[in-house]
Amino acid sequence: MPLSRYLKIYPCTDKVDSFIVYSTKKGSLIRISSALLAAAREDRLDESDRRTLSRLAIITEDQSAEREKMISAVTRACGRSSSFKAVVVVNLDCNLACPYCYEAPFRGRQYMSAATAGQLIDMLVRDQFSRGRDVQLDFYGGEALLSKSLVAGIAASLSTAAKTHGREFSFGMVTNGTLLTRGVVEELLPFGFTSARVTLDGPKEIHDRQRPFISGKGSFNSIIRNLQNVWDLIELQIGGNFSAENYREYPRLLDHLLQEGLTPDKLGMVQFSPIIPKAGNPSKISIAAGCTSSAEAWLAEAAPFLREETLKRGFAVHKPTMGGCMVEFANYFAINYDGTLFKCPAFMGWPQLSVGTLAGGIRDYSVSHNLDLWKNEECLNCSYLPICFGGCRFLSLLNNRTMDRPECRKGFYDATLERIIRQDLQYPAQNHQRNSGPNL
Ligand code: SF4
Ligand code: SF4
Repeated sequence: MPLSRYLKIYPCTDKVDSFIVYSTKKGSLIRISSALLAAAREDRLDESDRRTLSRLAIITEDQSAEREKMISAVTRACGRSSSFKAVVVVNLDCNLACPYCYEAPFRGRQYMSAATAGQLIDMLVRDQFSRGRDVQLDFYGGEALLSKSLVAGIAASLSTAAKTHGREFSFGMVTNGTLLTRGVVEELLPFGFTSARVTLDGPKEIHDRQRPFISGKGSFNSIIRNLQNVWDLIELQIGGNFSAENYREYPRLLDHLLQEGLTPDKLGMVQFSPIIPKAGNPSKISIAAGCTSSAEAWLAEAAPFLREETLKRGFAVHKPTMGGCMVEFANYFAINYDGTLFKCPAFMGWPQLSVGTLAGGIRDYSVSHNLDLWKNEECLNCSYLPICFGGCRFLSLLNNRTMDRPECRKGFYDATLERIIRQDLQYPAQNHQRNSGPNL
């Protein structure tokens, strides 16, 4: 059995004649001696080692068959899944005035109407619960909690419908955290509220500059107070947007969380993402779906630095896992406040990228969204394929003005993955968690 092509092999720094072998396909990680690695390369393993390395996807029956299997990996994962996931944009309004907001060019007082909410419920009951699928929603904005009553109404209806059909319903929320009081969480809990992703842009002085209320007042203290009051009710994930100029200050936020009693046992995953200044429309973005980005060279230093600082303090971080862009996954959608459907919330500023409406259904988007653009020789032979699948379509669109080529992450992974793997060896007991995007 030959070695899998989806491996990264790095020398051990603390043990001579040994290597770290990481399977990007399985996410498995082992240290092995150079003798064992040579035996695997030359296909002369004993039966016990062969079984172990096969289970860890370090070796494979047949490299060509493995490559062919990767071609259908996403389709097979969608076929196996019994759940439907969507980001639901309940409004595009906000009580903060963040200067970098990527939604700014198209944001205003737009709110999802009761009629559109009704269409959403009907669609989910008809097309998902009735067909035996569970439903998980992430409410999103603007600020989702400015539409608390609508969220409660949608969730209550779906919660009841799920029980009637013998299916599961749950929901999370992407929120700025300023309205996430204990009373609000308690009100939503009976309808399936399980988690909230809250943004803290670094220590107080940076956060308050980047995420002020419309009045200009800083929002940091209100958010911390809310987190302290609700951590025992729902899972709290912390996100944050950093720039090349300020990312080195972000560990002070982690220290502050610890001082405020928001210790790792009370929080879920902590993941910082870059704000990427871009010309054109929108002028600045952060990656809206919680996906990671690779667009800027300085990120090769910033991303692993912040990951390590987070791990050092005991918080859970994202672990690279097999998965890809929401665009590729048939059971993921973003539903805008007006009932238009997109494949990613980041596309909402491009009406031409809508893939349908709640009223009219989903149209074929395989050509417009260049599905399968990673099914080319270079990607299929690339050891990063299982954790990349062609990268982020949104960044491809921003960088190339079209989505017809992959957003290649080779340079980024070459510069960062070894450091990330070594971090995972150093902090093995830590509760790494998955990203919020689609995983296989
Ligand atoms: S285009 Fe895909 S990878 Fe990029 S932000 Fe959207 S879902 Fe994430
Ligand atoms: S886009 Fe680049 S990094 Fe991603 S799978 Fe293709 S070749 Fe590899």
